[in-house]
Amino acid sequence: MKQKWSQEELTCLLAQSDEAFLPVLEAANRVCEANFGKEVKVRALLEFSNHCKRQCRYCGLNCRNRKLARFRMEPEQIVETAVEAADCGYQTIVLQSGEDSFYSVEMLGELVKAIKAARPKLAVTLSCGEFKAADYRYFKECGADRYLLKHETSDETLYQELHPDSDFGQRLACQKAIKAAGLETGGGFMIGLPHQTLAGIAKDLLTVASIPCDMAGVGPFLPHPDTELGNEPHGSATLTIRAVALLRLLLPKANLPATTALGVLDAAQKDKIFCCGANVIMQKVTPSDYKKLYQIYPAEFKSLSITEGRRQVEEEIRRLGRIPV
Ligand code: SAH
Repeated sequence: MKQKWSQEELTCLLAQSDEAFLPVLEAANRVCEANFGKEVKVRALLEFSNHCKRQCRYCGLNCRNRKLARFRMEPEQIVETAVEAADCGYQTIVLQSGEDSFYSVEMLGELVKAIKAARPKLAVTLSCGEFKAADYRYFKECGADRYLLKHETSDETLYQELHPDSDFGQRLACQKAIKAAGLETGGGFMIGLPHQTLAGIAKDLLTVASIPCDMAGVGPFLPHPDTELGNEPHGSATLTIRAVALLRLLLPKANLPATTALGVLDAAQKDKIFCCGANVIMQKVTPSDYKKLYQIYPAEFKSLSITEGRRQVEEEIRRLGRIPV
């Protein structure tokens, strides 16, 4: 199966019947297994602050949501949690937050340094939003390995509507700066945003490939009741799987997670995605009291210790005939 498509070709592929699309899913699985075997990488996700200065209209953390109780973990507690995750077998931790000005660039750098000093082998991914190019270089100097910043949607008009305080050009410039800083670059986008089209999703796929992203998360949009988009329908799980399968063919070696949002929408589809190109899963290691407040979209969360969470996710992966690493 070919691996270079135009936007028009990708749009047609996305619109196919289930039967016609099946060969793409099968090809994605073959390419994924050729690169990663049956292995699924398990990564720890620590959501350390839900304060955010931005107004992204789909996100429950946006600063206009006054109903949300806000929390912020102390740097010491973040480092302790990262150390605990490493000691439970995680080799990567993703530190994610809203755009919280409390954590200056220097503080984030110090956090990375402290984690690296305590557990040098733990790969650290930051996912804290938009910064200047020099700041991404500084994170790299402090020891950060990766940075995750999704482009969210490449439809520029839609991007503008959804992000009153940013623009698409700026978002892409950030991704390019992350790449230029020598950080592994994580991107991705949402499926099913209001007014999004299949041609728009085709462009999203090409955008991820053009960076090119080293990892990319594609998840369905889930309406949050305390946002302006609270009454909109959620994105399609089928289309999410199709987008991940096509991304696997466009970027054979990229790390493609089964996003948490897909699991929240439909657990069975989340299982299926590991046979359609996905090779990564993120497991939350956020302390329980905070996990329920990190509401980018509504979801139920179990309160589990880091060890128990790790055990459960490994079990889940083995049940699917895959090998957790
Ligand atoms: N502030 C960071 C982290 C954002 S939250 C940043 O700007 O990168 C992490 C991801 O959650 C976002 O990139 C977005 O793709 C996803 N997300 C936010 N709201 C969502 C919603 N309502 N439904 C599904 N995914 C959502």
